[in-house]
Amino acid sequence: MIITDTHTHLYSESFDDDRKAMIERAIEVNVKRFFIPAIDSTYTNAMLQLEKDFPKNIFLMMGLHPTHVKKESYNNELKHVEDMLASRKFYAVGEIGIDLYWDKTTLDLQVKAFKHQIQLAKKYKLPIVIHCRNAFDEIFEVLESEKSDDLFGIFHCFTGTFEHAQKAISYNMKLGIGGVVTFKNGKIDQFINQIDLKHVVLETDSPYLAPKPYRGKRNESSYIYKVLEKLSELYEISEEKVAAITTENSKKIFGI
Ligand SMILES: [Zn+2]
Repeated sequence: MIITDTHTHLYSESFDDDRKAMIERAIEVNVKRFFIPAIDSTYTNAMLQLEKDFPKNIFLMMGLHPTHVKKESYNNELKHVEDMLASRKFYAVGEIGIDLYWDKTTLDLQVKAFKHQIQLAKKYKLPIVIHCRNAFDEIFEVLESEKSDDLFGIFHCFTGTFEHAQKAISYNMKLGIGGVVTFKNGKIDQFINQIDLKHVVLETDSPYLAPKPYRGKRNESSYIYKVLEKLSELYEISEEKVAAITTENSKKIFGI
C-alpha cells in the first residue's frame, strides 16, 4: 500500500527537533509520497534540503501563500516564484489562493497574486493547489474568470458544503481531504461519500489540523492514517482501496 500526503509542510520549524525521524515514521506506515507546498521565499532553501534528504519521496511545489501576500514584498516574492519555476522542475504552483480570515485588507493584492500564479501554472502546465479560508465566493470568481482546459489542481483542506464541492470539481479541482473529516463538527463527513472518490486526494497539512485523537496537537504525515481510516469507514471500502485510488488521483494531478 502506498499512501500519498498531497499537502505537508515538512520544512516547518515545528519539526526542527525531529524532522528526519518524523518523516521516517511516516514512510514506515506506507506514507511514501509527500507533496510540499511553498509559503514564501524564506522557506525555499529548507524545501530544497528536504528534497536532497529524501529524493525518492519528496516532491516540491512553488508559490506564494495568500497570508504572505504583503504590499511591501509581494512583487519580489512573485518574482522569486517566477525565477524558481523557470530554473527547475516543480510539481505544482501552490499553495495559492485567498484567505480572508487573517486579513481582509489585502483582498485586492491576494486576487492579483492568485491570478498571476494561475497564469504561471498554465505556462508550465502545472496544477494549482488552492488555499481557501472564508473566501469561497472570491475563489470561485477567480476560477470562473480563469477557467480553461489547462486549469486544474487541488482544493486543499476542503471544508465547504456539498455544493461547494461540486462547484470545485466543475473547475477540474480534486478535493484535498485531511484531519477535518475526523472532527465531530467538521461537517464534510456528512456528505463526502456522495462525492466519487476519484475526486479526492489525502493530505495532512502538517503541522496543522491534526486528526482525531491528536486534534490540537502537532500534526505529522504518519497521522494521515486516521484520515484513511475515516474515509474507509465513510465509503465502506477497504483502506487499501482508498489509498490506491487517492494515490492514483495524486499521480494524475501531479504527473508523478
Ligand atoms: Zn498548507
